[in-house]
Amino acid sequence: SLRFASSSFRASDLTIEHSKSTKPKPDPSSLVFGKHFSDHMLTINWSESKGWDKPQIKPFQNLSLHPASSVLHYSTELFEGMKAFRGVDNHIRLFRPMLNMQRMLSSAERSCLPLFDQDELLECIRKLVEVDQEWVPYTTDASLYIRPTFIGTQPSLGLSKAQHAMLFVIVSPVGPYFTVGGFTPLSLLADPRFVRAWKGGVGAFKVGGNYGPTIALENEAKNQNCEQVLWLYGDEEEITEAGTMNLFIYWINKRGEKELVTPPLDGIILPGVTRQSMLDLAQEWGEFKVSERTIRMRELLETLESGRILEVFGTGTACVVCPVGSLLYKGKGLLTSLSVSHCQTYKIPTTKNGPAMRLHKELTDLQYGRKKSIWTQLV
Ligand code: PMP
Repeated sequence: SLRFASSSFRASDLTIEHSKSTKPKPDPSSLVFGKHFSDHMLTINWSESKGWDKPQIKPFQNLSLHPASSVLHYSTELFEGMKAFRGVDNHIRLFRPMLNMQRMLSSAERSCLPLFDQDELLECIRKLVEVDQEWVPYTTDASLYIRPTFIGTQPSLGLSKAQHAMLFVIVSPVGPYFTVGGFTPLSLLADPRFVRAWKGGVGAFKVGGNYGPTIALENEAKNQNCEQVLWLYGDEEEITEAGTMNLFIYWINKRGEKELVTPPLDGIILPGVTRQSMLDLAQEWGEFKVSERTIRMRELLETLESGRILEVFGTGTACVVCPVGSLLYKGKGLLTSLSVSHCQTYKIPTTKNGPAMRLHKELTDLQYGRKKSIWTQLV
């Protein structure tokens, strides 16, 4: 397979150039997502003719790119999002990092960027976090966000496989997603005119091109007093994801069973690390049915109207779990009882003792070392 055909850089070749000065660390309680960066970065260059260069950790600095670089014109770009947590025992942990490495490799393959050994990249990232360990906030309310990025740097305008590429990793301390006393429910705008990804497209890959174009729609949601977009797909208005989170519904199904459902990985959904972890944990509990299956807007609204929705929540690295409290639906009126065009705000129940809160607690207990787990890896 392609995956094993190309060579890789090696973590044992890593060189480290320490920064001469260190920037002041921001107060963890005042962190704005992705605004502060640590003192170092990891870069690894690749070219078709020479293969992978040696990985380098060096002082955080600007990149210098040829203006024709393919990333700037054709969006030859992919990224990952993961975190390092400082635990209650002061050890720093990564959470299921190999899932991020695997997803990154599949994004690289889809983007015609060169492949690499996942273990070697993870070891380079571990080293970077070690070098910048003081940037991992000393609190269980914050963490160090890690942003591996891979770009095509081919200095020519021809639309073809990049012969030059650069993989780099930057890290940024981030605060709690919810403000104190939080777990505040989100409001979502569901409008079938807005599509994030489609069958045969690249929705299952974490490529930059999936994200830039969603900003205008998130703004549109804000204009309508909603925080994020619930992405629907197709004539049947399949429910896919919410903003940059996977979506879960906990309901009483038609057979009267409690069931946790999430849309399947059918190519239009990003395979979230948190999503997989929710499924794994809920399955392990074995207290209710756990299903990956297609859910249509019509079914969601009917279930909501019959009072069988217990809770709805999004999952992702940023928030772990985020409850959904309301839904503004601007659809065609798929419900037989509704007129042709339909617009209504639906209130979604939230509860303090449902799976959302429990999954959030369970996962953060592992991340911050309050519970031992094979899912975490020490830095
Ligand atoms: N869906 C999309 C579109 C995302 O960008 C993300 C964030 N990576 C997720 C879901 C959640 O994935 P994860 O749990 O791996 O953060």
